[in-house]
Amino acid sequence: MKKLPLHWRIMLGMVLGVICGAIFTQFEGGATIISDWVKPFGTIFINALKLIAMPLILGSLIKGVSDLKDISKLSLMGGRTIGIYLVTTILAVSIGLFMVNTIRPGNSIAEATRMELIAAYESDAAEKQAVAKKQKEAGPLQALVDLVPDNIFKATTENGNMLQVIFFALFFGIGLILIPPKKAKPVKDFFDAFNEVILKLIDLIMLAAPCGVFALLAALIVESPSFDLFKALGMYALTLLIGLGLMIGVYTLLVRFYVKIKPGRFIKGISPAQLLAFSTSSSAATLPVTMERVEEHLGVDEEVASFVLPIGATINMDGTSLYQAVAAVFIAQAFGMDLSLGTQLGIILTATLASIGAAAVPGAGMVMLVIVLGQAGIPEAGLALIFAIDRPLDMCRTVVNITGDASVSMMVAKSVGKLKKDPVEKKWNDHYPKD
Ligand code: ASP
Repeated sequence: MKKLPLHWRIMLGMVLGVICGAIFTQFEGGATIISDWVKPFGTIFINALKLIAMPLILGSLIKGVSDLKDISKLSLMGGRTIGIYLVTTILAVSIGLFMVNTIRPGNSIAEATRMELIAAYESDAAEKQAVAKKQKEAGPLQALVDLVPDNIFKATTENGNMLQVIFFALFFGIGLILIPPKKAKPVKDFFDAFNEVILKLIDLIMLAAPCGVFALLAALIVESPSFDLFKALGMYALTLLIGLGLMIGVYTLLVRFYVKIKPGRFIKGISPAQLLAFSTSSSAATLPVTMERVEEHLGVDEEVASFVLPIGATINMDGTSLYQAVAAVFIAQAFGMDLSLGTQLGIILTATLASIGAAAVPGAGMVMLVIVLGQAGIPEAGLALIFAIDRPLDMCRTVVNITGDASVSMMVAKSVGKLKKDPVEKKWNDHYPKD
């Protein structure tokens, strides 16, 4: 068991979690047992991951930026990162639109099913609409204002403030570049060691990953709605899953031909992070592991990974943007609306912006979907249609979100000459302490 590679251990935990959840739904009180006695371990696992996200960003970004030595390198890397992120997001939305217009899953929704779904999830949908309304009410430059914290200690106490912490870390890192190297050295050394500690903590937390995902999936199964509703949304789910699969294919090709890393090695390197993204539905919670995987297994230099990945976790969500395109058009189809080309082009723009604005937490994509629907003139009540199946699809789109971030970090690293040719593929037992 100890020799089994991490991704297999996590996979085993997931499968056992699903089986256990399915068994416990079969008898009365089973769901409560899972919720009371198993779910808390999943929550503890996610909390542990989130716990180190802020120190990780702060430590590794400050160290990464200060290692750059000159600021022009930072702007070069920043420009490339944002550029590639935008291109992949627009590509993802376009793939989503193409799939949903080709398969037209909304046309197969019967009137009765539509009514049933809307009645069942009306109030849940209203909740998401209320959150979205708050976000919409803010002025156009609010996102920019929110970027600059007025108090760094306050900013670091809230995981949702990741962009503010990134801003501070970049700013601090720039300051470190600008002061004499002799003065900067102790601070850099401190963050260097600080980083090492955090990376070690990730290793330790990952030891518990198989149990953590077991608990998360068992709880998910006992809490999920009836299977009949899932079936009604089968075509929609299938359309989305094909789109997400295509997107993973796109990343694999980009990594194959631009970065020159074989698909097998890429997937093997990133798979533990993908499995965690699937189990937690949160790019933010997965971030520490994504960083560790690309640095230690895919050869991305720390300078690049620490810069590209935290930004990606918050602004680059290709899976989410693809989902928003598919969901928006699906709802329109289900309501018998025909969307013009202009409206669909508008969806490309709003889904891109909405995915940038979505937080890296479970269900955030759906909140931002309200904005896409509103802009395209699609009834927001349609959100209730897709509610039943949103969580499993959220898990899948989060996998795409973090795979996108990882592949872009490899491309940026390659483009600035910071990709180690032959990353030391550490053996399981070297890297993960014996348990
Ligand atoms: N759960 C997604 C993430 O964290 C966001 C979303 O699409 O809901 O990446």
